[in-house]
Amino acid sequence: MMQQITVLGATGSIGLNTLDVIRRHPGRFTVYALTANTAVEQMLALCREFRPRIAVMADDRAAEKLERSLAGEPGTQVLSGQGGLCEVAAAAAVNTVMASIVGAAGLPSTLAAVRAGKRVLLANKEALVMSGKLFMDAVAESEATLLPIDSEHNAIFQCLPPGQVRNLAGAGVRRILLTASGGPFRNHTVDELQRVSPAQACAHPNWAMGRKISVDSATLMNKGLELIEACWLFNTRPDCIEVHVHPESIIHSMVEYVDGSVLAQLGSPDMRTPIANGLAWPERIETGVEPLDLFALGRFHFERPDLHRFPCLRLAAEAFESGGTAPAVLNAANEEAVAAFLGRNLRFCDIPVIIERTLAEIAVATADTFEVILAKDLEAREIARQHISHVH
Ligand code: NAD
Ligand code: MG
Repeated sequence: MMQQITVLGATGSIGLNTLDVIRRHPGRFTVYALTANTAVEQMLALCREFRPRIAVMADDRAAEKLERSLAGEPGTQVLSGQGGLCEVAAAAAVNTVMASIVGAAGLPSTLAAVRAGKRVLLANKEALVMSGKLFMDAVAESEATLLPIDSEHNAIFQCLPPGQVRNLAGAGVRRILLTASGGPFRNHTVDELQRVSPAQACAHPNWAMGRKISVDSATLMNKGLELIEACWLFNTRPDCIEVHVHPESIIHSMVEYVDGSVLAQLGSPDMRTPIANGLAWPERIETGVEPLDLFALGRFHFERPDLHRFPCLRLAAEAFESGGTAPAVLNAANEEAVAAFLGRNLRFCDIPVIIERTLAEIAVATADTFEVILAKDLEAREIARQHISHVH
């Protein structure tokens, strides 16, 4: 049966990789909708190639521009705003939604896809970090199929017995070994970290990604968000997960069982592998990913993460332990701090400082509704911006 797909965040790194896999399997997938924020020219080219039923621009003016550009061409209706994003995430004709908007902006549409019971391919880890329990409750209630796209979580998913991904003790799992590349500053001293630029932070040694996640990889906040993501996806706790810095980024994560077996998923660092795994699951399809050449690689290395130089990983673990709205505050403060760093309004080493101060200032509340979480997100952004203007 033909799968109808909505790609949320189609112009991003994950979106474009998803479309590349889709392009290779025209008999299997059709694009129902594509969405972007402001990138009209890129969206126009994607609409001409994939002819989606609907194109959504989150930004109203960008939507008007796209509509004018598409005038006279048949087939694609243009929508705008969060309403448009949620509509194409939940549309009856859609089977599968790739949730690849970056940051908290992706929560409403990702959640709309979950509530509509879709097969949801989750790249937008921030949505799950912010709203963990409510998000997983929504998955259980709607019987949506949630498939992890983050390479580490996809690796863990592949190393767990089918149907047991939220029952680790029952499956005989002792620990999850979450791998991390260590980012571009793995060997920098505290002193060197003071002076790094946005361009250096975005030049990841193994992966080409969006700017926000690239900075998160450099601070290790990405691993912190992934630790929280893993706890929710696999129904476990931080003390059952150990981060292993593995600079080659070939082992995408591992699962250790009580009998001493350790299962790993390996592959070239190319997001088309986890994306195709989600798109075709439980089947396998071609991706164009370079096959692994273990002889050329020769050897693998492992190190413990250095929480002194990279405190973001510790802050994330602590926020998960605090529970309630703390992870949403962590995420919002991080988004603001990263944006300020990318805009050259904050030094790299002040990113964790801003997050820690914001967390200290906001009382943890019970995260029992999405409204509470979104209100904390706004409050945290406000406070983080105040701290950023003070340290700048
Ligand atoms: P990106 O910056 O390349 O793309 C982001 C996409 O989201 C774009 O299409 C953009 O138009 C859209 N977008 C941005 N702000 C928006 C807004 N306010 N409203 C609506 N749409 C908006 O990011 P990316 O690297 O593709 O990452 C996307 C998500 O996937 C992130 O949550 C990231 O953590 C996760 N992820 C990415 C990778 C990777 O290799 N790039 C790996 C694992 C997980
Ligand atoms: Mg990852």
